[in-house]
Amino acid sequence: MIYKRSSALFVEAKKYIPGGVNSPVRAFKAVGGDPIFVKKAKGAYLYDVDGNKLIDYIASWGPLILGHAYEPVINAVIERAKKGTSFGMPTEIETELAKLAVSMVPNIDKIRFVNSGTEACMSAVRLARGYTGKDKIIKFAGCYHGHSDSFLIQAGSGAVTFGSPNSPGVTQGTAKDTLLAGYNDLESVRELTVANKGEIAAVIIEPVAGNMGCIIPQEDFIKGLRALCTQENILLIFDEVMTGFRLGKGGAQEALGIAADIVTFGKVIGGGLPVGAFAAREDIMDHLAPDGPVYQAGTLSGNPLAMSAGLAMLTELDKNPGIFRSLAEKTSYLHEGLEDVLVKNDIPHQINRFGSMVSIHFTDEPVIDFKTSAKGNNDTFKKYFHGMLDHGIYLPPSAFESYFLNDALSYADLDKTILTLQHIAADLK
Ligand SMILES: *Cc1c(COP(=O)(O)O)cnc(C)c1O
Repeated sequence: MIYKRSSALFVEAKKYIPGGVNSPVRAFKAVGGDPIFVKKAKGAYLYDVDGNKLIDYIASWGPLILGHAYEPVINAVIERAKKGTSFGMPTEIETELAKLAVSMVPNIDKIRFVNSGTEACMSAVRLARGYTGKDKIIKFAGCYHGHSDSFLIQAGSGAVTFGSPNSPGVTQGTAKDTLLAGYNDLESVRELTVANKGEIAAVIIEPVAGNMGCIIPQEDFIKGLRALCTQENILLIFDEVMTGFRLGKGGAQEALGIAADIVTFGKVIGGGLPVGAFAAREDIMDHLAPDGPVYQAGTLSGNPLAMSAGLAMLTELDKNPGIFRSLAEKTSYLHEGLEDVLVKNDIPHQINRFGSMVSIHFTDEPVIDFKTSAKGNNDTFKKYFHGMLDHGIYLPPSAFESYFLNDALSYADLDKTILTLQHIAADLK
């Protein structure tokens, strides 16, 4: 495929925008080459500025679970825009979306809307600290909770892709309150709770991790984590920015059968517009301003355009819960097809999958945490990424990202993807 115009646009973008992008992982740095500039998209397909058509396995990094330019969402946004785009006053649609979200997700009574997953996680931690009166938090190596200071400690996603899991600019004072545990390593959490007894406000986790590739929580780990938090009076925060409204109506809480104390959302809940949210039972949420002392606010929070997209999206998912099964089946089909090709061609690999999240790691060892994820062969990954891209398959440009399937993908698209891997497999060795 030819990417002439994309490359020219990237040169121009780099003159005015740092690295030419407004979010680092878009820049293709981990895989080399220039990023593709998109012109428009519909369903499962992207159309770029050079006239190429690509099958999309990212879907805006998760939000577009029903595919691009999904009619009910687009129409809701258009109709809403005609009435004005922002008021800084309450609107009925905020309550409608809140009511629907609360009805779909277990263990939450109230929800507060913000503008991104970053804001949601940052605010959830402040709330946990205000509620418990304690300062420290525990996070897991390789988990990503947005780019606020407390979380850029061994962070996943773009932070690790670019080799800056601990970012300059985060003060020692902030960093000392974030304690680091190993994913699927309950003992490491237990040790931290012993060494910092009575000081830990919250444990924050991606209940199914997606920012070091897809990593599934082992059953005794996640159950043990819940029990340990309860025992130590620590709030368990499920960062469901990726898993919320993707693994099922009730997200990972429902899929894993584990109740969290605070849940954060982003991605799907905004249907492709900037929405994040955090939610909990009433006695926790009532600590927030204006009812309680924990301050949190936003000029564009609960923005009516964003709410209308989120409401249209969640309404579809609520009406048609079969979508989650259909997506999981498609993902499983893709998993088996790709696995088959890799096995036949003797390429060392692990494929991790949970619902509609999946990722390939080019390593012999089971991938269960950040350390094992980092062992993947990046040279093989680069060849795989570019080989697939040359044939019109758009995968996440980093081995530390999950794929996000969308329900507009057809079995013909999945077959084409599997055949493409077969076609390029010899080059991967
Ligand atoms: C994407 C993501 C975030 C950050 O959300 P933004 O909207 O990019 O700020 C936080 N947590 C998880 C698990 C994510 O996948």
